[in-house]
Amino acid sequence: MLCLTMTGRTLEENLKLKENLSPLVDLFELRIDLLESIDIPQIAEFSRSVEKPLILTCRRERDGGAYKRTDRTRASQLAQLLESGRFSYVDLEEDFRRSELEQRAQQRGIEIIRSFHDTASVPSDLFTRMDRIARRGEIPKAAVTADSISNVLTIFSARQQLKELSRYIILSMGDWGVPTRILYKLTGSFLTYVSPEGMPAASGHLDAQAMKHLFRADQVDDRTKIYGIIGNPVMHSASPKIHNPAYMKLGMNAVYVPFLVDDVRTFFSLADLLGISGFSVTVPHKQHVLPYLGKITREVKQIGSCNTVVWEREYWKGVNTDYYGFLKPIYEDLEGERIKKAVVLGSGGSARSVVWALRNHQCSVTILNRTVEKAARLARETGASWGGLDELEKIREADLIVQTTSVGMIPNDGQDPIEAYQFRGDEVLYELIYAPEKTKLMKRAEAAGCRLISGKEMLRAQGILQFETFTGLTFPLSEAEVVF
Ligand code: NAP
Repeated sequence: MLCLTMTGRTLEENLKLKENLSPLVDLFELRIDLLESIDIPQIAEFSRSVEKPLILTCRRERDGGAYKRTDRTRASQLAQLLESGRFSYVDLEEDFRRSELEQRAQQRGIEIIRSFHDTASVPSDLFTRMDRIARRGEIPKAAVTADSISNVLTIFSARQQLKELSRYIILSMGDWGVPTRILYKLTGSFLTYVSPEGMPAASGHLDAQAMKHLFRADQVDDRTKIYGIIGNPVMHSASPKIHNPAYMKLGMNAVYVPFLVDDVRTFFSLADLLGISGFSVTVPHKQHVLPYLGKITREVKQIGSCNTVVWEREYWKGVNTDYYGFLKPIYEDLEGERIKKAVVLGSGGSARSVVWALRNHQCSVTILNRTVEKAARLARETGASWGGLDELEKIREADLIVQTTSVGMIPNDGQDPIEAYQFRGDEVLYELIYAPEKTKLMKRAEAAGCRLISGKEMLRAQGILQFETFTGLTFPLSEAEVVF
């Protein structure tokens, strides 16, 4: 079940949220600590207007909420609301036991969600505490803070550890916790919290639209094929917006989830536990995954980096779709020899795929990089020439300039890696950066009349190939249908 946390500062704001988002969710949580003022009769009246089950919560500051008054006042306000309002659940903290509240909840048929919050870590006695709460006939809720993929693995092991419990809620806050929110059913949680767009109630809360329509979190079940992307950072990735809509279009029971990963080895254990079918790999793990692959394609071997991992019956297979995704927009120009000389700016991970793809298509390549030694190393390996980013005379005869450095990327989108270079107008500029959509360098090239190829084109092309590698199916969406 999806539970919308009402984050409005007034009941009027919450009323609007309820009206707009009700079709997306199964229940609501009213956070009275977020209200500008706590007016008991008005809140009680509001609670009676909510047609779906409603959780009453008043979170203290130390648990990540906004309530500043004493525990005594809080108990009194909660008691009045349990008496006069209409709530299905009340969320009370583990260290806040008040028999008058418990009795009143029982008399009125209101279930107690007994929560504990750890805003710094995942406590080692997590499951014992939850078990203890459940034995009292209450619903345990653990909102903890993972700071490693190993912690995330612990949270997903709840389903096994707590299999005797009929209902509980477990989740991690922050970016690490995003998979525990999307795949809440695989943690065994009976609900997951969502926020209104742009008003997250807690760190890592996803919005109702994304959870319902992009991730279809409430439809995940034991037969759902799980895919995802691993990286660090990873939450900015556009890939969920390429893959998830394609599953939906084909009516596939599948979901694509971002996983923040610090340690690849532990992620493979999580992949086993969740039965993950395939995943994309981004910075800094494209090399780190290699030791775990049972089979790799020729490109992965040559480039030494892998951005796509798929489970093939008995082993993980590594593919590099950056290579083909990069080639797609220029393939015919390379084959028709309209592009014969290229300059590649940068010699990081993506430059490796780019240079190899160009060299394998008989294109002569010069690599220019800030750290010249790195350019020289890649150039020696691939049979290219090299230089520094200031050696602009080396660009003069190029048919194609491929920009692979991170210079010009958000938030530094005012930067240009070759500021002093004057475009002739007949070169093709291929920019790998996709955020912003048009970098400063692209704007200069466009003004000079150059043909532009954007990072989005490559991202889309490599994503489509990844989808086809994962599923064996043809990507079903048109260009206009892939919005990221
Ligand atoms: P990477 O391995 O970290 O390499 C970064 C490159 O940028 C290195 O050559 C580095 O030079 C250079 N660089 C960084 N800061 C610089 C600065 N201030 N001045 C000059 N050069 C600088 O990163 P990557 O994986 O290759 O990714 C690079 C870019 O490509 C990112 O924007 C990424 O989003 C984009 N990308 C796009 C796609 C797509 O599908 N469109 C796919 C992959 C990557 P040094 O060697 O001197 O450090």
